[in-house]
Amino acid sequence: MAKKILITPKSFKTYKDKAYPLLAQKGYDIIENTLGRTMSEQEIVSYAKKDVVGIIIGIDPLPASVLEQCKDLRAISKYGVGMDNIDLNRAKELGIKVKNAVGTNNISVAEHTIALMFSIARNIPSIASGIKTGGWDRVIGFELTGKKLGLIGGGQIGREVAKRARGLEMEVSIYDPYFTDEAFASKYNIHRCINLDDLFKESDVISLHVPATPETRRIINKHALELMKSTALLINTSRGELVDEEALYDALISKKIAGAAQDVFSIEPPSKDEKLLKLDNFILTSHIGAFTHEAVEKMVIVSTQNLLDMLE
Ligand code: NAD
Repeated sequence: MAKKILITPKSFKTYKDKAYPLLAQKGYDIIENTLGRTMSEQEIVSYAKKDVVGIIIGIDPLPASVLEQCKDLRAISKYGVGMDNIDLNRAKELGIKVKNAVGTNNISVAEHTIALMFSIARNIPSIASGIKTGGWDRVIGFELTGKKLGLIGGGQIGREVAKRARGLEMEVSIYDPYFTDEAFASKYNIHRCINLDDLFKESDVISLHVPATPETRRIINKHALELMKSTALLINTSRGELVDEEALYDALISKKIAGAAQDVFSIEPPSKDEKLLKLDNFILTSHIGAFTHEAVEKMVIVSTQNLLDMLE
């Protein structure tokens, strides 16, 4: 039987020379996603229904119905961290192993989070694009020094953001009921927040670093936005599902909060008529948090090694 590996992430090819020889050495044939975009469920099935024993997956969908049709699939290696595009329960029932590439992109996403924080605090995108069309607007901004940063999620990325924010002399609080790294919190003088409402009320900047789960979906909703300061900034580099975008739009247009900057959206790419995109106090980047040379190289190497480990 042919042993094939399907590789879906577009950026994988940038560092494929680090991976393909390892796969070839073990006798695997490679099927690349040549579509130049995220694959649909039907496309994944058409490539992987037979002979594909492993998939290196980006954000392409792997629901139960797809997993059930990929008859020879034994292992899924996530090229990245968030596994909300994979039906993990069904994979387990079908005996398909799954692993993510922990520790590969946390620095890149943390740096992008800080970049978005400065961008929205100083209105950089709207000012810079205004100048390109002949304007010279000056919009008053906020300093970050001394401000309170409330992090929801203190995992790999949350902690890297916390360290950098401490370097900027921000006060940092983390809300994460599963956080156990007390040594980290004490080393960086980080406050552990037990009550999420308090975090919303007290923070100048709220930044989201949790996976999308039933518990975290729309963690930023009308209630949360109403508790936030009118000067507060919201940063989301995690998943679009964490934010109720309708409630966010209402909060931004009525100046209930000062601004929001996201790297993720409920539907990516969003419709060009998306009303949030028309607001100057809303920034969206194209899911580039982990899209750096350094992170991509690490994700290629680690996701390939993880796949080989699971298959051997
Ligand atoms: P991680 O697993 O290391 O950390 C997640 C943290 O969230 C954990 O500490 C966990 O205890 C905490 N958590 C879980 N449920 C919670 C809840 N209900 N309330 C508060 N905290 C909760 O993951 P990570 O590497 O830090 O990544 C975080 C998320 O960032 C990923 O799940 C992914 O969705 C997103 N991400 C985005 C990009 C991007 O390109 N923008 C890249 C990588 C990851």
